[in-house]
Amino acid sequence: MAVHAGRPARTPGAPVGPGIELSSTYVQDGPVSYGREDNETWRAFEAAVGELEGGQAVAFSSGMAAVAAVMETLPVGGRVSVTPDAYHGTRRFLEERMPRLVVSDDSPDLVWVETPSNPMMAVTDIAAVVRASACPVAVDNTLATPLLQRPLDLGADVAVHSATKLLSGHSDLLLGVAVARTDEWAAKLRERRSRHGAVPGPFEVWLALRGLRTLPVRLERSSASAVVLAERLGGHPAVEQVRYPGFGSMLSFDVRGGAAAADAAVARLAVVVPGTSLGGVESLIERRHKWPGEAAVPPGLLRLSVGLEHVEDLWADLAAALG
Ligand code: PLP
Repeated sequence: MAVHAGRPARTPGAPVGPGIELSSTYVQDGPVSYGREDNETWRAFEAAVGELEGGQAVAFSSGMAAVAAVMETLPVGGRVSVTPDAYHGTRRFLEERMPRLVVSDDSPDLVWVETPSNPMMAVTDIAAVVRASACPVAVDNTLATPLLQRPLDLGADVAVHSATKLLSGHSDLLLGVAVARTDEWAAKLRERRSRHGAVPGPFEVWLALRGLRTLPVRLERSSASAVVLAERLGGHPAVEQVRYPGFGSMLSFDVRGGAAAADAAVARLAVVVPGTSLGGVESLIERRHKWPGEAAVPPGLLRLSVGLEHVEDLWADLAAALG
């Protein structure tokens, strides 16, 4: 699916991959009239992500635009129950919208699950949440990707991604996507995209689809390395605790000695890049506590996004940095 979904029809002479459609407007009386509503390059990417997630995908200009579009389908005063350690941008968005949106576990209108959570790597049982919820359930599937977890199959109504991360995979663009289980949800999301104008650029979408083609091999490699690194870090005397969900390419670990020791270790790294974000071909590391809104994260916690470097190069770098 990752390799073939969203390709043009196989007619003689047709291109094997979609082009980049750069047009803001269209000749009247056709299926598309204006570039804020639809675009052929979006459709190719959306077809591919939709097939992978098992629903209808709607692309947005960033992950946060996709998050906002789902949240803003709620009426004024709508109540959202959210994973307590969800991505800080999602929590800040909700906090800043109050009282237009209310964060509450009491009779919610929407349950927002992020699993594994970023950066604590807490895992939530999506099917159990769906069974226990009387309202729609949305899942931020950024860290697992549809290759490791398909929220819609588990009963969720929407799966959301920062496609900036693993789906595109090269740290060279910002993009979001929300995948709906029903026509009704897909229509609501498309309507939000058009009204808010949080539309992606066709070039970014084309790059993301190009990156998506290799997601299975990238994820296989980075997950295999993450398993090895999680185990070795767990046995390292400078590491207090490793947080690894047992799958995927992301892990966090707490450095003994707290913030100063963690910062000193990061400063000694030569291969792993100190930087925010995740899911690129290059390994990235960050001490998350320093972000506003991440006060609950242990000060010495380092989040590691495992990339495609050789696992022994990564381990040698981490072991030398930890001393
Ligand atoms: N969801 C998760 C889990 C994330 O990690 C991020 C970004 O780091 C977002 C959503 C927001 O995505 P974007 O940065 O593409 O707006």
